[in-house]
Amino acid sequence: MTSVTELITLGTAAGPAIRGKENGMASALVVDGKYYMVDFGLGCVRAAHQAGLRGQDFVAGFITHLHSDHVGELPAYLLWNWGEPVDGFTSPVGVYGPGRDPQHVRGDKLSGTKDLVSHTLQAFSYDLDIRVTDEARPEMTSLLDVHEIEIPSVEQGAGHRPFVVFEDERVKVTAVLVLHPPVYPAFAFRFDTAHGSVTFSGDTAECPALVELARGTDILVHEAVNLDFFTSMGFSPTFINHQRESHTSPEGAGRIAEACGAGQLVLSHLAGVASVEEWRTRAASTFSGQVNVATSGQRFSVTGAPAAARI
Ligand SMILES: [Zn+2]
Repeated sequence: MTSVTELITLGTAAGPAIRGKENGMASALVVDGKYYMVDFGLGCVRAAHQAGLRGQDFVAGFITHLHSDHVGELPAYLLWNWGEPVDGFTSPVGVYGPGRDPQHVRGDKLSGTKDLVSHTLQAFSYDLDIRVTDEARPEMTSLLDVHEIEIPSVEQGAGHRPFVVFEDERVKVTAVLVLHPPVYPAFAFRFDTAHGSVTFSGDTAECPALVELARGTDILVHEAVNLDFFTSMGFSPTFINHQRESHTSPEGAGRIAEACGAGQLVLSHLAGVASVEEWRTRAASTFSGQVNVATSGQRFSVTGAPAAARI
């Protein structure tokens, strides 16, 4: 098998809103034929299938935060990629995501990743049970290895310095906490492979910890919001303030890419409407490297080419 790493931006739209043809937020990193998911937004099941990804090669999924536009299709992703009849997973896969929110006043009663998955299994228990006996599929419960990401202690950086979340023979995944108030925790993930690295910002305002995580990364996948769109459409001040406080302008994404020395910038999780050229031009005004405005299903090879080789 050829040894390669490839990023596929399965969906690139922010939500929960449908304002164009792009799928909701989800990405895949394919390493030597095995793949890892980052977020499970609307449309990721079909997008992954169309990209040629099959559950039998799925290793683990990483959830940046629990906004529905990042996890809404996780239940369907598991149900559509499980068992031999669909070339799905038949041995354990990992799910890594946030625990319950300790900062929220009702956080101890609101679901973290473990609840999200266990409630999914309960909600679909009839279907799951039927398919085990009727289609000889393995028990789904025994195939999901769910981890709530532990945030390091203050002495270890309190999540503001990169910490290891996952490691196997193909990837090392590190994370930091990013700034997505009032959501907590919200993570950015960096994947290091033999061929280079890809860093996913998750949803965040301009974040110094992300610069630390993404230092020298080959590809920075960063979110962006076009505040002008929401203002011109008459959205409420509260809504616009959330966008301003917890997301990043294209110029901001460019600044982060420049500060960390990214090989190239891939804009994804685009909130609000703008032309491709507008997204690109605004990010390029603050970043000297290549800017890509990602579309659903787009592929980027990870080659680890030095920044000097940028075109
Ligand atoms: Zn969010």
